Amino acid sequence: MNTIRIIGKRKRIAMVAHDNKKRDLIEWAVHNSKELAKHELIATGTTGKLLEEQLDRPVTKMLSGPLGGDQQIGAMIAEGKIDVMVFFWDPMQAQPHDSDVKALLRLGVAWNILLACDRATADFMFTSPLMQQEYETIIPDYDSYLHRNVTT
Ligand code: PGA
Repeated sequence: MNTIRIIGKRKRIAMVAHDNKKRDLIEWAVHNSKELAKHELIATGTTGKLLEEQLDRPVTKMLSGPLGGDQQIGAMIAEGKIDVMVFFWDPMQAQPHDSDVKALLRLGVAWNILLACDRATADFMFTSPLMQQEYETIIPDYDSYLHRNVTT
């Protein structure tokens, strides 16, 4: 059976940008700072530092992405501590932590959080009336997986 998780009005938003996409993310965040002010921000280390400076507000900073920050945010998603992720990853450059990037994107989908990987999607997401409301997100049923037959 699927379970429901309530995403509150004030959302916990994770923000991550690869180096070539940091300018894009900061520009987007400054443009949307009024909307973002209603929510809590969590970010990978360098992205978080830039956001704090440009938005002049506190951001919870994890380690830098390649040093474990992506995995920290992934763990928070699995623990139900992140509701939304804005992740501007770079489609034109391989990253030293490609495996972590893949894992983070995978967890975002596995736990059915809101996930925007480009500005257009982030714009649509943040202008949705659902951003101002509580929302019931459906957590996929992993029960059969957890209770699968494992021969020992
Ligand atoms: P950074 O990490 O914000 O510390 O640069 C981003 C990433 O995950 O690559």
